[in-house]
Amino acid sequence: MRSCACLVLSVLCCGCAAPVEDGAPLAVTYLANEGFLLESGGAMVLVDALFAGEEIEYCDVPGGALRAEMEAAEGRFADVDLVLDTHAHVDHFEPCSVAAHLRNNERALLVCPPQAAAAMQAECPGDGEIARRTRALALEPGQSIELVEDGIRLTALRLRHGRYLVPDEETGRQYDRHEKVENLAYLVELGRWRILHLGDAALSQNEDLLAELKLNERPLDLAFVPCHCRDPESLRLLAERIAPAQVVWMHLPAERPRKEALAAFLAQAWPGSTVFLEPLETRTLSAPGAPRM
Ligand SMILES: [Zn+2]
Repeated sequence: MRSCACLVLSVLCCGCAAPVEDGAPLAVTYLANEGFLLESGGAMVLVDALFAGEEIEYCDVPGGALRAEMEAAEGRFADVDLVLDTHAHVDHFEPCSVAAHLRNNERALLVCPPQAAAAMQAECPGDGEIARRTRALALEPGQSIELVEDGIRLTALRLRHGRYLVPDEETGRQYDRHEKVENLAYLVELGRWRILHLGDAALSQNEDLLAELKLNERPLDLAFVPCHCRDPESLRLLAERIAPAQVVWMHLPAERPRKEALAAFLAQAWPGSTVFLEPLETRTLSAPGAPRM
């Protein structure tokens, strides 16, 4: 039987933010694709937002001015405490964009899978100072690890990335091009808020791991779920194994009519769920367990 590693690490931050104010509202700002800024009680977490120096035809990308603001760690991004990357795909992570933010924000810590850290080392090696603030988490599928940084408690969970079947060039046989992608989901605890971001996990392909991880044992306020999890089996697992009070769908197409049509479907598939249609939209939740955004 697979062992589920559940370790707890204390990590030291550089800026040492004040503890998160308990009972504060939670503000969620959509940036692009699966990229979000989470803010509560003086703590800020940036997830999967620093990517795409160029257009990507199938999803929103952070536009030039927005990406520049994030890389410069200016404006609303000046006080980010944690930068999270779920995996090293181009629609989630651009090594030099992440490195730029860390260079300009000395308080921020990066948490990511080893594949992302290796890409940064190869493409934007820096002087070692950024590597010192990088936590590359080597986890096997089904393993999890907990980090505590001031008032932010973070659990990283390795879940399988959604399959992408393509024919092998030599044999013609189908294989999963994403099988070896290190996809980390993150459970972020800000004060009393418990928030899960799944990255590109496909729930229907993780049933065994979800059973082991027991995410449904404690109330979850909000789950960010990729829209490819709209199949009946994934929706069942979302309800039974994750059971969030609220759902935000992510990884929607960029083209507006397709996005709106999918948003209408998702609103029926999970009543009360949220789809952000435009980058920089912000929704604020007043209290954990609140019925809708
Ligand atoms: Zn991906």
